[in-house]
Amino acid sequence: MENKAPIQTVNVNKRQMQAWEYCVRIPIGLLGLASIIGGLLLCLTIIGILPGIGMMLTGGLLVMPAFLVGHPVSCPFCANETKLNIYKHDKAGECSSCKNNFPVKWPK
Ligand SMILES: [Zn+2]
Repeated sequence: MENKAPIQTVNVNKRQMQAWEYCVRIPIGLLGLASIIGGLLLCLTIIGILPGIGMMLTGGLLVMPAFLVGHPVSCPFCANETKLNIYKHDKAGECSSCKNNFPVKWPK
């Protein structure tokens, strides 16, 4: 008979954002937001729709990594490293490698 081990809760240690991260993320995030707004305005003019969409996509690609701060934890199922969003504080995390869910305990 298979002996199923209980699912391990992943404990997250408090992580402080480094000063350099703010220095990098904030300008990139603002640049991304500016591209999204610029792209939106371009889309309002009929000629600018294509470059406008391109600008919005580029802006989105800049904003996402700038504001999504991943917290690396190791998955209790496959031991691969997966990233949790430190702003969401989800009660459960999903492993990006094996797609299993596991409970997460955040620091108070
Ligand atoms: Zn996994």
